[in-house]
Amino acid sequence: MRFNALLSTINDNKTLAFIIMGLTLSRWIMHIDMDAFFASVEQFRNHPHLIDKPVCVGPDPKKGHGRGVVSAVSYEARAFGIRSGMPISKAYKLCPEAVFVSADFQNYVKASDEFMQVLRGFADGGRVRRASIDEAYIEVTTHVKNYESPIKLAKKIQKVVKEKTALPCSIGIAPNMTVAKVATGMNKPMGITFVGQSREEIMNFLAPLPVIALNGVGIKTTDRLRRAGIETLGQIQKMTIVDLWPIMGRASKWLLNRARGIDERPLIDNGPRVRKSISKDITFMQDIRPEQINLLHHSIAKMCHRIAKKLQNNHLQAKTITVKIRYADYSTIQRSKTINCATHNRETIYQNAVDILETHRNPSLPIRLLGVRVSNFVELEIQPTIFEFI
Ligand SMILES: [Mg+2]
Repeated sequence: MRFNALLSTINDNKTLAFIIMGLTLSRWIMHIDMDAFFASVEQFRNHPHLIDKPVCVGPDPKKGHGRGVVSAVSYEARAFGIRSGMPISKAYKLCPEAVFVSADFQNYVKASDEFMQVLRGFADGGRVRRASIDEAYIEVTTHVKNYESPIKLAKKIQKVVKEKTALPCSIGIAPNMTVAKVATGMNKPMGITFVGQSREEIMNFLAPLPVIALNGVGIKTTDRLRRAGIETLGQIQKMTIVDLWPIMGRASKWLLNRARGIDERPLIDNGPRVRKSISKDITFMQDIRPEQINLLHHSIAKMCHRIAKKLQNNHLQAKTITVKIRYADYSTIQRSKTINCATHNRETIYQNAVDILETHRNPSLPIRLLGVRVSNFVELEIQPTIFEFI
């Protein structure tokens, strides 16, 4: 009934729009991101003597001849130009005196769980939206009323996270998830970045930033926009859907809204853990005869392409590749292989999947279904600060 009373006071669409704007802009969302997470766990939890030292998490560099890529880098090691995702051999060349530590994923998961637990205590309704192992969103619209300001609350969260997990984190505060995430990257480590609730403040905050600052805008989109002469979010803010359509197609509306800091997604708790595996399978319209090897390989290639994309989008690399084969008689086998270096490379996943298929396939039976799964993840800690792109 109260809702009906409210509706009766709305006599035109303009008032309705005003009320909706008011409702959506009055939220407070925090994006909390652990600083150099894996490296910080090594420094502050596992090996305190490594505090203030350049630490590089990854495979053994073998004096510059090791294979594989860097998973995480302490801020001290970043000063030497080492970045996550870089070949470990290159990292060694940049800073041979860095301490190279192999990744201890179980330990990182434990630290992550503790971190999420702390956030739960500050979140409205205890809702935490986990974005990856080391970052999450919480809504604090209600909780913030117990504090002098959102910044005071953010300081308190940083303090409790440090006390309970020993780890540093940075926080972005804004009226929605998109803007909060951009804000966090502005000031690291142990930073707090605040963006107010007015439309003007949000637009002004985003305007000077490069388009890649937006979560969801990758290198490909950045290149496409650059070719059209668009470098900053401010340029997009001034465009219309019609202007943007030839460049971005169906993603135009999404990009236009995000560039203007419009994001009305509600904050939904997505459970305590990130995914454990990614899989695809194909059931064939007709059973594939054993001699149709090309068709089998082509299907594997298609699945690996999609899996690699998903891994890359989620900043994950996998060490275990599994192939599932279901024969025409419904008998099913699954065989796995664990590789030395975690990967998100399509070609590597494909080569290994084909290898498993050809090693274990019964060459006299037709196949009804093929599946590929990757698991045993290592999460790449990619957290470029916005300033790296300016
Ligand atoms: Mg982080």
